[in-house]
Amino acid sequence: MCDDVIMNEQKRIYLSPPHMSGNERKYIDEAFETNWIAPLGPHIDAFEKEIAEYAGVNDAAAVSSGTAAIHLALQLLGVSEGDIVFCSSFTFVASANPIRYLGAEPVFIDSEPETWNISPQALQLAIEDAAREGSLPKAVIVVHLYGQSAKMSEILAICNHYEIPVIEDAAESLGSTYKGKPSGSFGKFGIYSFNGNKIITTSGGGMLVSNDVELLRKGRFLATQARDLASHYQHSSMGYNYRMSNVLAGIGRAQLEVLNDRVQARRNVFEKYQESFSGIRGFDFMPELEHTRSNRWLTALTIDEQETGITIPFLLEALAAENIEARPVWKPLHMQPLFENSRFYAHSEGEPVCERLFKSGICLPSGSSMTVVDQVRVVDCIHDVIKKSAGKSAQTA
Ligand SMILES: *Cc1c(COP(=O)(O)O)cnc(C)c1O
Repeated sequence: MCDDVIMNEQKRIYLSPPHMSGNERKYIDEAFETNWIAPLGPHIDAFEKEIAEYAGVNDAAAVSSGTAAIHLALQLLGVSEGDIVFCSSFTFVASANPIRYLGAEPVFIDSEPETWNISPQALQLAIEDAAREGSLPKAVIVVHLYGQSAKMSEILAICNHYEIPVIEDAAESLGSTYKGKPSGSFGKFGIYSFNGNKIITTSGGGMLVSNDVELLRKGRFLATQARDLASHYQHSSMGYNYRMSNVLAGIGRAQLEVLNDRVQARRNVFEKYQESFSGIRGFDFMPELEHTRSNRWLTALTIDEQETGITIPFLLEALAAENIEARPVWKPLHMQPLFENSRFYAHSEGEPVCERLFKSGICLPSGSSMTVVDQVRVVDCIHDVIKKSAGKSAQTA
């Protein structure tokens, strides 16, 4: 099946395509009928309330992207030129870019193996160093990768001890829980993303959540060009144009109604992959920490090259030839040219955990609208690659 050199003509299977419920049109029509075609309106107010309720927090502010939400969170915490902000290294660049927007410097922290997320051990080391140097970070950005919650109890214990606020980058973990509570509700701020590839989408958008209603009020102020209370346009601080459109908030409301179904569908996809490859040595799926429930946004696993004879680039190529979109896992930020001069704290001696994951990790198509037939296509293609590489190693043995 994977032998075909020419591009496969079968339907393309995407990594994580949008999945509309059908109800979105109703809300969009409502926005049109009432002429609320603006970055404010009743859908925004309702969507904010509904997300706050879902996340179990006091308030939520709808913005134009998850990145904008991180930027606002950092600014609301007073991050400015020359400050230091700690951030998970194993994440998408959007987690850290806003640190630089504010002229601050990121320090990157390694992952630990049980969650693939920020290592409390490395975090502790980094904070002790910073305390000695008299330059404690202004904030710690904790990312919940692919829906798996980081070890929040341990992280909060460390950060609370030093009185450092935590921002949860829950862009990928809306619908996940940690010890029964929604991901994104533990830090001073949480952020969600509704980009087209996320578990629910508004095509583009984000949300900043917090229990601090006063700070979120200020966040909305900054997100609307920081207009002072005056009928003429008066400004005493610098703001942004970061609010969400009322039309898009309508899409978000319909998507939120089906979020729990979407989580279940993605978990089913994950479980089917896990079952299909259960007998194969060297395939290790992203773990799910005890007392957490991941939304399994993307099915991620590592493939041991020694054990299987398969490299990630080779497998990606075989899948691409079958018109299947798969991806490597995120390249750690401390390995990015953009951050080549940034500091990094490893989980333990030897190879950093996130570097190992990067070398051997892959994300498989995980959309909630993926059919069983589609998934069998992915599984068959991978089985094919395994068979061939087993044949090869038998020949050379
Ligand atoms: C998608 C994503 C973001 C950014 O969200 P946008 O809405 O695309 O700006 C931030 N962090 C992580 C981990 C993400 O996956």
